[in-house]
Formats: sequence, structure tokens, C-alpha cells
Amino acid sequence: MRIPMIAGNWKMNTTVSEAIELVKAMQDELDKIANVDKVICPPFVSLAAVRELIKGSSIKLGAQNLFFAEKGAYTGEISPLMVSDLCEFVIIGHSERRQYFNETGEIVNKKIVAALKVGLKPILCVGERLEENEAGKTEEVVTEQLGSSLAGIGYINGLIIAYEPVWAIGTGRAATGEQANETISLIRRNIAKLYSDGIAQNMRILYGGSVTAANATEFMKQPEIDGALVGGASLKATEFLSIVTQTSAIK
Ligand code: PEP
Repeated sequence: MRIPMIAGNWKMNTTVSEAIELVKAMQDELDKIANVDKVICPPFVSLAAVRELIKGSSIKLGAQNLFFAEKGAYTGEISPLMVSDLCEFVIIGHSERRQYFNETGEIVNKKIVAALKVGLKPILCVGERLEENEAGKTEEVVTEQLGSSLAGIGYINGLIIAYEPVWAIGTGRAATGEQANETISLIRRNIAKLYSDGIAQNMRILYGGSVTAANATEFMKQPEIDGALVGGASLKATEFLSIVTQTSAIK
């Protein structure tokens, strides 16, 4: 049994006080929903304050990134230990980081290793760009990203994968439920090949890309989709709550 999961990626939005307000606006209602893992990923600067606020609640905390070195002279970076002190989850390899911060498969791989080493549960993002999708290269791209991100990693306990087609992120143009289900099924087969059937069957694989309250049910009805990584819609308490509520009703 895979516990469904809805994770909110707040990206570079909300000041600390806005983050607190957003959590307060949905915390009580989210807490009433028991069969879904509800994860919020605010910016680094709000993690400590949000952590205080959600103490004792069922909401879980994630970061949006980390650096792979343990500590040292890396001005401006945040180490795995710093993140694990506050969070259970960490998003790694988001397409915005690959695109704007030149994160390669090799860097993503080092970050996954570093996160797993300190007991963090990485949410590894993979997904093809529009031109790759149109050229029929989705399978090739996703398979390559999985291979490079997980190269040499024997132990992936706690790892979650988010299939996020780049053309669907923040565009309002979501994949269809069937498209997402098909690629997630391919990802699961890849994990089975790289690891084992058991690991693949137990791994949670999320869809991400313009998920909203209006289309959440379409994705959650799909058997291979175990939840969603939600960007824009996670910044609105009612939208996020509705996505979690729909997931709880279907899964
Ligand atoms: C994301 O940031 O991972 C994401 C899926 O964004 P959005 O839901 O806004 O498309």
C-alpha cells in the first residue's frame, strides 16, 4: 500500500509572515484528513517558523533544495544536515533548478546521495521539455534522468519521484491523466529494472504540472499516480485543501 501524498512547492513565494498566514489558513482543515501525506515546502527562510507552527499536527515539512557538501566555505548554500534538522522531505532536481541554475544529472545525483545519507526523503523531479515531448522522446529523457540521478545509489529507502513534464509546470497546460499515468508506469518499470519489483511497487510516484482543484480528480483516479507535487495552487489555502480532500476521497 502506497500512502498518497500531496506536496506543495511554494517556490520563491511568501515572506515569513505570509508563510505563517498561509499555514494558519489551512492547518486545521488539513489536519482532519488522515489518509494522505500532506507536505508543504516553503522557502528556506520560513522553515523554522513553519516548523514551530505545525508542531503536533499531521502536516509535514519539506525544503525545495539543498547543497551536497556537509559544511564549509560555500557561501549562501544550505547543507543536508541543516535541512534534516528541520524537514523530513527535500525536493531535488526540480526543472526550474535544472533550467536556471544549471543543475545536471551529476549534481542531482550528489544531492540525492547527500539527502539520503542524513535520512531525508528526497522528492526527485524528472520530466521532459516540450520539444522532447513533441519529438516523442519522453521515454528516452525520463529514463536517462532516472539513470543519471540514481547512478551508483544502492539504497533508496524513502525516495519519492515526481514526474513533472516541463511544459506543464506553471503553464496551466497540464498533462492528461492518461499521459501522466503512462509515463509514471514507465518510471515504475525503470525503478524495477534498476532496483527490484518490490521497491518499484512500494515507491510513491507523483504527478506535477498545473495541478489544481479543477483537475486533481482526473490525476488521482489513475492507478499509477500516488499524489501530486503542486506549485501555484499550493499557494491558495482553499485550492490546496481541495486537492488534498479529493485525493483522500479517491485513494
Ligand atoms: C512545481 O513547481 O513543481 C509545479 C508543478 O508547479 P505548478 O503546479 O505551478 O505547475
